[in-house]
Amino acid sequence: MTHANVAGIAVPTGHLIGGEWITSPQTFETRSPLDWDGMHLADVARGDDETATAAMAAAVDGFDEWSQFSVAERAAVLNRLADLIEANNHEIAMVECLDMGFLYESMKERLVARGALNFRLYADLIVQHADRTWPAKNMSNTVQRMPAGPAVVITPWNAPFMLSTWKLAPALASGNSVIHKPAEWSPLSAALLAELTIEAGFPAGAYNMVQGIGSEVGAALVADERARRITFTGSPETARHIGKSAAENLVPFTAELGGKGPLLVFADADLDAAAHRAAWQFDDSGQVCLAGTRLLVDESVREPFLERFHHHTDQLVLGDSREATTDIAPMAHPIQRDRVHSFVERARANDDTIVRGGNPVEGSLHYEPTLIEPASNNSEVVQREIFGPVLTFQTFGSEAEAVELANSTAYGLAAQVWTTSHERAERVGQTIRAGLVWVNTFLVRDLTAPFGGCGLSGIGREGGDYALDFHSDLKTLMILDNSTA
Ligand code: NAD
Repeated sequence: MTHANVAGIAVPTGHLIGGEWITSPQTFETRSPLDWDGMHLADVARGDDETATAAMAAAVDGFDEWSQFSVAERAAVLNRLADLIEANNHEIAMVECLDMGFLYESMKERLVARGALNFRLYADLIVQHADRTWPAKNMSNTVQRMPAGPAVVITPWNAPFMLSTWKLAPALASGNSVIHKPAEWSPLSAALLAELTIEAGFPAGAYNMVQGIGSEVGAALVADERARRITFTGSPETARHIGKSAAENLVPFTAELGGKGPLLVFADADLDAAAHRAAWQFDDSGQVCLAGTRLLVDESVREPFLERFHHHTDQLVLGDSREATTDIAPMAHPIQRDRVHSFVERARANDDTIVRGGNPVEGSLHYEPTLIEPASNNSEVVQREIFGPVLTFQTFGSEAEAVELANSTAYGLAAQVWTTSHERAERVGQTIRAGLVWVNTFLVRDLTAPFGGCGLSGIGREGGDYALDFHSDLKTLMILDNSTA
């Protein structure tokens, strides 16, 4: 097996297929956004059609064995994996920090723990939501959760470790084997996770991980008719490609896609808390699908809000993601930084007003926290996901206008509402078109609640037993009691 040495941590660079580490003749390079020109991290196996075929064959075999594990046995393996993730917290956090740029402290304190929790949660849920039986007159009814088969799990680069566990845990808990294809911009934490699954005790082929480029090995995996589920997080453009393959093979498919979240601030809001949270949308350099990137503020509090927003934004420290004092990490890739800048350049040409920021930072992959007051609601920066530290600022004159603006994009992933009125919170919360609405808070979640988006933000729901339903073939068994005994 080939490993790369990443800050003293040995990271496998191959594919995990059928319990074995396999290499490919071709590789792709991953570099660190913390020092793009100076820090080459690894040459990673670049899977192709043959890799996909081999991984699927292993997943078919692995499914035969894993699907025969009782729910209690599956839960025990998932809990062991969670223990191993916790025991390897530093390694996962540091590798993700170097590979993707994610803040080390944030990984260590929040996201690695959340990854472990995702496995523990589904270990519990699969036991709680196992087969259900109830009697009726002369009849017994059983709803049986049949494992569906191999699941292809395709994940994005922006929070690679945590997002992949959110998808892998329910698939595995349901008794499906998996083939995980992580994103090529940040492939390394997936390799550490795959390595831990061997120690956790999955049978060979139950857990497979292939590395490579989306349009190559990713496309081959989703086109394989042996896949029985496809679960994807990424962009709407890629979802369209994958959806065509899913349709061709009639495979159930969920897609968690982009967002263009509104953050509404009413005149009765705790303005300082709202402005503080608004500045927090620059977290992770804005590479967050759930971020409230459209600030919609009551016209009557425009100036006091903006004053507080600038104050909090001025405090943000852009720096090296390994340092505890850093608030804002660099962007994950020069291509993404340039893409963000091209949005800002087009906004300038469109007569949108750049209120602050609007430039790449010299000498690093950071982009200045940027606020744009658009010329109109049709401006591209209002309507399209930028996926960088760029927020727009608009005002409204009434609650009805606020809701109309909030619902005026093709996306519908998450929204935030800041108000001290409970009645308004309920009224506005119920009229916003989104999979998730937070009032006076952000990012907290009950993991048993459904998660997903409307419109361009996605297809289907994950979270809690919704994800178990997706990954199972549900069967109803009715037995008429005609025994003579
Ligand atoms: P992307 O669509 O470019 O890539 C996502 C994954 O798909 C990668 O692993 C990639 O290799 C793979 N892929 C690409 N083409 C493929 C193909 N033809 N067949 C199979 N796989 C293919 O997305 P990205 O740039 O990595 O991620 C950013 C996007 O993800 C943003 O739009 C963001 O909002 C979204 N996102 C959504 C959520 C959510 O929960 N809704 C969470 C995080 C990110």
